[in-house]
Formats: sequence, structure tokens, C-alpha cells
Amino acid sequence: MRKILLIYTGGTIGMITNAQTGALESFDFAHLYAHIPELKRFELEIEVRSFSTPLDSSEIGPVHWQQIASWIAKSYEQFDGFVILHGTDTMAYTASALSFMLQGLKKPIVFTGSQLPIGIIRTDGKENLITAIEIAAATDETGEPVLQEVAVYFEYALFRANRCSKVSAHQFEAFASPNYPLLAKAGVQIEWFKERLFRTQLIHLDPLLDLNSDVLIWRLYPGMPVHLYAPALRFPTVQILILETFGAGNAFSDKAFQELIKAFITAGGLVLNITQCQSGPVRQGAYQTSMFFERIGVISGADLTAEAAITKAMFALAYIPKNQQAAFLKANIVGELTALP
Ligand code: ASP
Repeated sequence: MRKILLIYTGGTIGMITNAQTGALESFDFAHLYAHIPELKRFELEIEVRSFSTPLDSSEIGPVHWQQIASWIAKSYEQFDGFVILHGTDTMAYTASALSFMLQGLKKPIVFTGSQLPIGIIRTDGKENLITAIEIAAATDETGEPVLQEVAVYFEYALFRANRCSKVSAHQFEAFASPNYPLLAKAGVQIEWFKERLFRTQLIHLDPLLDLNSDVLIWRLYPGMPVHLYAPALRFPTVQILILETFGAGNAFSDKAFQELIKAFITAGGLVLNITQCQSGPVRQGAYQTSMFFERIGVISGADLTAEAAITKAMFALAYIPKNQQAAFLKANIVGELTALP
């Protein structure tokens, strides 16, 4: 029988209404089968592990990413697949981070959550959880796991973890992955798009659980008071600045801004250019307004999501030697970006 490790971190999915108070509260995942009896019909062994205090995902950060990654790494051989129940708000960050921290992965890690608590009649949580488990247990004709990467399953769609973002606070279709197509679609059957699945070149799982979060991200906007942002770059520990730029990687040609970025790079800092647009890549030099970036050595982040850019930068600072960080940020490591020809 295939074995799945289900990790509950918190979030709406694990909530039910307290019959006395009417308030929503987290239920005890040790009693998972009582709340979702459908799970008994799977021919699977499901072990449940839960954060001691379930967290709203706004409270989840690098320490918790490490906790989840280390639980998976330690029990990697014992289980065939992993399902992580997580609040939707920051799910794309956690899932992206894990894709960098657990390279060499040959088993599925499927994140899911829900917009409505599992204890509510119209919940999307049951379908999300049941299908996420089915995906984590799926094998191909040779008995190998179909999915061998970190993914997010939500509302009939399976996304690559480091390609998706939360796009809706109220629709059941809460996630989207505009720059990479779905890995699978759940209908009457699960339809896999096998040519889109990531396969690692590494032989073994290589858990690298440290992160360095001295990363800044600035979203450019017309009228941005650059002088108010400048002091942050004076902290010597800041080594990577991510700029969320306009369109295909463009910015205003404000002198103070340009001098600031140039001085940061001259002092050894790295600047990564990603776009504010939901889809499409940065193409530095395509417009006059991005020539400057190209000239001073700003790194093009191609079509990275902000979540993937931030977690990749945190990973790079922890593990990649200084003189290789720029090349690392630019390269496609775990399917997170489409390299431009
Ligand atoms: N605020 C919740 C969280 O992200 C929302 C959810 O679970 O979807 O934890």
C-alpha cells in the first residue's frame, strides 16, 4: 500500500464551526477521518502530522519552511508522496521555497488549501484535499511517481509550485500560473500533461535548508520617492535587491534612482529585474527605459514570479558562492523560469 504523509500547517482548510460558539476553529487532525470519511475509501496509508499550533499562512516564514522541508527530508524514504495543507495567502512562497530547498526530489510534494473551511457545506477543501492525495499517490506504468516536483493543487488545476501565485481572495480559482501551463487537470479523471513535468538531473535528494532573507523587493511606481527607499540599501547585509518593474522590465530614468542602483551594484550588490505584469518576461534593452539596467549589469529575472524570485534569492545567498550568484539567479534551476533564447 502506498504511504502518504499529510502535513497540516494551518489555514482555512482545517477549520470547522464550533457548535457552541459558532466561531471557526482548527480541528484536530488526529481525527481527520471523522471529518472526511471519504478518505477511508482510498487504498492508501495516510499518516498525519500537524504544526503544534496551526498557523494562518501570514505567520508562516523561513523557519516554518525549514520545519516542513526537514520533516519531508527525514521521512523521505518512508513515504511515497507528501501533501501539505497550508493557508492560501502565502502558499506560493512556501511551495516555491521548498522547490529550491529540496532539489533532487523524485517524489511528489503537493500543497493545497481552501477558500472555505472543510466544515462548511460548500467547502472546496474536501475536493482539494482528496485530489491532492490522489495526485501524490499517482504512479505511471512503470510504478514511478508521475509527479516528481513541488506543486500546488487548487480547484481542479495542478500548478508548478514556483510558477503560481494567489490571484483571488474570493474565487475558488484562487491560483494562476500565467507563465507556465498546468501540470495536470482534474476532471472525471486526472489528465496529466507529462511533457510539462519537471525531472531532476540529480541522483539523490539534496536537502539544503538554510535561507538568508536579507533580500529587498521594491515595486516601482510612478512618483516613487526614491530618497525614502535609499537608506535601506545602506545596510551592508543587503546583497540582493529585486525590482518589480513596468512591462517588459522598464523603469523611469530618474537620476537619483539610477545612481542608487549603480552604486549598489558597484559595491557588490545584485539587482534582479522582474516584471509587475502577471504574464510575459522581462526583456532588458527592448525599450530605451530598460537600456540602463542592461548597461549596468542588472540581472534579468525573465518570467519569474515575485514569490519564486524572493525565495530563489534567499536560497542563493545561503548556498551559492558570491561570484556565481548572478548566473544562478538567471538560470533555470527547478523549472521556475523560461530562459530567453
Ligand atoms: N488567511 C488564510 C491563510 O492563508 C486564508 C486561507 O487559508 O486560505 O492562512
